[in-house]
Amino acid sequence: MKKKKPGCGSLIILSGPSGAGKGTIHNELLKRNKRLKYSVSMTSRAPRDGEVNGKDYYFVTEEEFKQEIEKDSFVEYAIVHGNYYGTLKREVEKDLNDGYDVILEIDIQGALAIKNKKVDGIFIFIMPPSMRELRDRLVKRGTETKDKIIERFKNAYKEINSISKYNYVVINDEVEKAVVKVEAIMLAERCRVDRLEEFEVNNEEELIHELLTDFNK
Ligand code: 5GP
Repeated sequence: MKKKKPGCGSLIILSGPSGAGKGTIHNELLKRNKRLKYSVSMTSRAPRDGEVNGKDYYFVTEEEFKQEIEKDSFVEYAIVHGNYYGTLKREVEKDLNDGYDVILEIDIQGALAIKNKKVDGIFIFIMPPSMRELRDRLVKRGTETKDKIIERFKNAYKEINSISKYNYVVINDEVEKAVVKVEAIMLAERCRVDRLEEFEVNNEEELIHELLTDFNK
């Protein structure tokens, strides 16, 4: 999974503080882009109301998560807000090799771990329009206890300090605009010179010969 081969998809890493709107953005991207797959992470966090095992996360106990660490099942894993989260190799590798772009929604520690492995990814940081707005979104979401909201909000300040490690930043003031920006980034990445694969360089002498033959007719 190191260097991107021609024909392989791109690995897109979306990070940003809890409440920045990464989930909404990636769900919208998946609806619109058939070439895009989402890598379902594994976590030891308890499922929230409405979350589905195998779709939102693979929910496991801490013990089971540690067994997967032993088996070397993860591209990266981290303890985030007190729970284990990890990107499974099996979720990522096959889809990339089949030519799909694969999106990861992971925290900053995970993104930096992937970057340190020199994996060729597109690192996008999703920002809230302001910290006040972030705080209000975390409260409105109502998925966490008061203590957890404060923990996530404090972590957000630390996470924002890592922004310079990313390739792109998208401010999520309006979901539609943020999605269009991420799509533009993905499109630009597909046009990178090192991804050129569709252009056929025919034999120069053969083409000239055909041309001369035509001229002499
Ligand atoms: P939540 O509990 O709100 O679903 O996620 C908490 C944080 O964990 C979010 O910042 C989310 O992006 C991050 N996260 C989710 N999956 C992974 C993963 O596989 N690896 C890492 N490092 N972070 C993850």
